[in-house]
Amino acid sequence: MRIDLISLFPEFVAQIAGHGVVGRAGERGLLSIHGWNPRDYAEGNYRRVDDRPFGGGPGMVMLIDPLQAAITAARAADPAPARVIYLSPQGERFDQAKARELATRSRVILLCGRYEGVDERLIQAEVDEELSIGDYVLSGGELAAAVVIDAIARLQEGALNDADSALQDSFGPGSEEGPILLDCPHYTRPVEHPLGPVPEVLLSGNHAEIARWRRMQALGRTWLRRPDLLDEVVLSESDQALLDEFWKSRS
Ligand code: SAM
Repeated sequence: MRIDLISLFPEFVAQIAGHGVVGRAGERGLLSIHGWNPRDYAEGNYRRVDDRPFGGGPGMVMLIDPLQAAITAARAADPAPARVIYLSPQGERFDQAKARELATRSRVILLCGRYEGVDERLIQAEVDEELSIGDYVLSGGELAAAVVIDAIARLQEGALNDADSALQDSFGPGSEEGPILLDCPHYTRPVEHPLGPVPEVLLSGNHAEIARWRRMQALGRTWLRRPDLLDEVVLSESDQALLDEFWKSRS
């Protein structure tokens, strides 16, 4: 997969691309990230990329031409068609289902705004969709882009050392008829610790019992922490029985 990032801070690309799972995905040839700085396409001695908003008011607005030229250059760098995504607090909320959808694409261009944002005409002409990472306002789209890139990178086949870990993560794909769940709790050595023991079932070596316990914990945690995920869902008989058992264990 190829990701082009349009940003006034190209050094951000190196930061994102150089570490952890994203870095490994790059080293394994699964993902490449390319930065495009609109300032390189700006005219005049000062290479202006922003100007005052018409109608008055605070702040600056990013100019159309440098952004459009950067997007055009990014598009031309690879023949595969690219979806242009503007990171914006006004966009559709980014979630794991969206990450899965984007991860199947061969290319995306991520557009990072700064200041008060981007001239609306550029958005109308060049942007295919807007994505928000949450209901708060950041100073720029770069952190949002980093979130999107990380979530996509770990879904590239071969990026994680153990492919199953993405399946069991919170908001994993579940199964066709099953609910989307939070992950179960995890434990590692030592078995005994002043903070408490590891649940015995995890030491039993009985894989069926371990899987059953993990499913029960995932259902219970989802019910406790994110009941909205279970709102529209009719649980299977076995899941309902596990959730009942979870309730009982707490009373
Ligand atoms: N005036 C804009 C508004 O209220 O909708 C906010 C502009 S914000 C200060 C500057 C840039 O940060 C935006 O153009 C966008 O690219 C990015 N940004 C801010 N919050 C974001 C969020 N929650 N998700 C994605 N991008 C965000």
